[in-house]
Amino acid sequence: MNRSQPQLFEVAPAPLPFEIAAEEDLLVAQVVFDRPLEEAYSYLVPEPLRELIATGGRVRVPFGRGNTPTTGFCVGLDHGTGGKRLKSVSEVLDRRPLLSSEMLDVTRWIADRYLCGWGQVLNAVVPAGVRKQAGTREITCYEAAPGVCERASELRLPAKQRAVLTSLCTAGRALAVDELSAAAACGASPIRALHDKGLIVPLRRRTAPEAVAEAVPEIAPDLQLNADQTRALDAILRLLREQQHATVLLHGVTGSGKTEVYIQAIREVVSYGRQAIVLVPEISLTPQTIRRFRSRFPSVAVLHSHLSDAERHTQWEQIAQGRVQVVVGARSAVFAPTPHLGLIVIDEEHENSFKQNSTPRYHAREVARERAQRENIPLILGSATPTLESLHRARQGDDVLLSLPSRVADRPLPPVVIVDTRNDPQIGMGHAIGRALQNAVQRALKAGGQVILFLNLRGYSPILWCPRCQSTVHCPECDISLTWHRDREQIVCHSCEYAAPRPRECPRCGMPGLRYLGTGTQRLEQEVRAKFAGHRALRMDSDAMRKPGSHDAALDAFRNKEADILLGTQMIAKGLDFPNVTLVGVVDADTLLQQPDIRAAERTFQLIAQVAGRTGRGDQGGRVLVQTSSPDDPVIRAAAQHDYLGFARAELQHRRELELPPFAHLARVILRATSDDVAQAEARRIATLMRETAEKVAPEVRLLGPAPCPILKLRGHYRYHFRMQASEVEPLQRLWRAVRPNLSPAPDVELTIDVDPLDMR
Ligand code: ADP
Ligand code: ZN
Repeated sequence: MNRSQPQLFEVAPAPLPFEIAAEEDLLVAQVVFDRPLEEAYSYLVPEPLRELIATGGRVRVPFGRGNTPTTGFCVGLDHGTGGKRLKSVSEVLDRRPLLSSEMLDVTRWIADRYLCGWGQVLNAVVPAGVRKQAGTREITCYEAAPGVCERASELRLPAKQRAVLTSLCTAGRALAVDELSAAAACGASPIRALHDKGLIVPLRRRTAPEAVAEAVPEIAPDLQLNADQTRALDAILRLLREQQHATVLLHGVTGSGKTEVYIQAIREVVSYGRQAIVLVPEISLTPQTIRRFRSRFPSVAVLHSHLSDAERHTQWEQIAQGRVQVVVGARSAVFAPTPHLGLIVIDEEHENSFKQNSTPRYHAREVARERAQRENIPLILGSATPTLESLHRARQGDDVLLSLPSRVADRPLPPVVIVDTRNDPQIGMGHAIGRALQNAVQRALKAGGQVILFLNLRGYSPILWCPRCQSTVHCPECDISLTWHRDREQIVCHSCEYAAPRPRECPRCGMPGLRYLGTGTQRLEQEVRAKFAGHRALRMDSDAMRKPGSHDAALDAFRNKEADILLGTQMIAKGLDFPNVTLVGVVDADTLLQQPDIRAAERTFQLIAQVAGRTGRGDQGGRVLVQTSSPDDPVIRAAAQHDYLGFARAELQHRRELELPPFAHLARVILRATSDDVAQAEARRIATLMRETAEKVAPEVRLLGPAPCPILKLRGHYRYHFRMQASEVEPLQRLWRAVRPNLSPAPDVELTIDVDPLDMR
């Protein structure tokens, strides 16, 4: 931490008594609160606050029958009350707006698009650390009273008081008490004496948050782009120079050098004195990724989820003051308050983590598109396996499609071999690693290569099964079987993290001797250590990586060849670049395919392609083995041939037939209650009400359900859902607005709407 000179900015003074303004010139503030789907409320702005209030800042107002003091955002200022009697704003909390007018518009758009309250969006967009002004303090400063400096020489003052006054007059700005006593080499009493004489006046100020000094790596030169990269960059530069919005889908296979294209496009943006935002999945915010940007631009801010409130506030201020050239961050960095944004990049745009799964349930890609449109700047979406939504838009000509079809330096994509596990003797005996994979690992290790084994299931074994009553052990709160975690000696629910000691006997029939079925990463680790004794294995999953920093440490260890085999969940699948990896094994592709989800095929393809992308990056080449019991599955076959376009063609066809995204928009309504009957009855009632309303206001909307959610019971709540479906999103919004005021769900029922849902559980 660099302790910088405290910078000062003014705080709003304490609330003042109200006055009645002249009738014809009343100022009215529109205020929104952290509540679902409500219009703005109007409040009179009393005279003393007129100078202080700003749209995009927060206010305190009396709310409801009890006039409870409540914080809201001022989202508009109008003149005239239209003859209505209004309550008054009691306090202005932010002197400067927290959001620009463009960002305020974007937040309004989010509320409309995702059917939630504008105030809910604002609360989510402005980080808590910024709202609380974390890391700053209020301090008292002094300035000379008006005219005092001019006649200072005429005043008769004791020496110390004179020193204080001289210091203030020479400084020509307000000084904090400790600055002042240091400058005048005195204690507090001469300052107090001058104050009492009215020669100096106190001001309340807030210190600026402290800037964080980051270790800056040496700046590296830009790489010489190859022909494909040059073509892509040129197209992006043309858009930048035209100062027009366009969304570019940069479809480039893993290792094709997309990041270098982003960097050189950002170089152009920075040369205009503008800023760029780069969104990456949280899981990819590794030191390696950060270093790539820090080694190319002198001023990079990284926004990740482990920042403290104070750090986040600091970053926000630095960005808002235009001191940052490049903001790299996860989903919420799309809201970074850059003053002159020039470009937004979303890397790995297919990642689900760009969609927030709590209110506001926005997708950062759609928010970025909206922001880029309003700021007339390009948006680049990069992926080796674009979402079908993005591919479809580009194919239709709404977006620009650019391709990087091969890896840099013409390195081939690794050959992918499908291994049929159905007749494998080892798999038949309950092993996770079959004979072919075992041989391949042995050969790779012998040749001095490193190996990655991917298994998307943490814990030791996912099923505890009773052979007598044929039941499995379930979470008491969720409709999910418990996973045995051998390292913690507990059975754990992967949904709610419920944990309990291992039962000695079946909880249902009391018979001892539960069987442990299936393999998670912990059991795989044990098998790897047994099968490849003498080689070092490293396990990466959220259990092994609990300590902050352990993720990065593990990746560094593997890169430095302190381990030969890296095994883990999707944590290891993303965006990592290990030149020495010559073999990647997908231990069980079937678990990916069998998800009850409209996007199961798409996710399987993406994961296999991403994992395969981790090998063949060095000179030794590399290959991939995929173990599956459905070797003829078209998705797995397409993934093995690196045939994204072939996969997309078939899957788009299928989605078109079923009227699923990208050919339709969905909205999912979920009802939750602690009583199964209540949840079910409410789901029926509300679905019926929605059907009736739809007939009147939105006949083009199709309603499916209600039905129990695929996971019926979650965290002690029974869940039912139904789906609305239409070719555009607008009728869904129209229907919801029409029906929402009449829903009045039972008090113990929680109602959620998810527009363009990705999570269907
Ligand atoms: P992607 O993001 O498409 O997976 P990267 O941008 O990570 O690909 O590039 C893969 C590797 O190739 C990186 O190590 C990168 O430094 C290197 N690289 C990218 N472009 C070039 C180039 N034009 N010449 C040489 N190396 C390059
Ligand atoms: Zn649970």
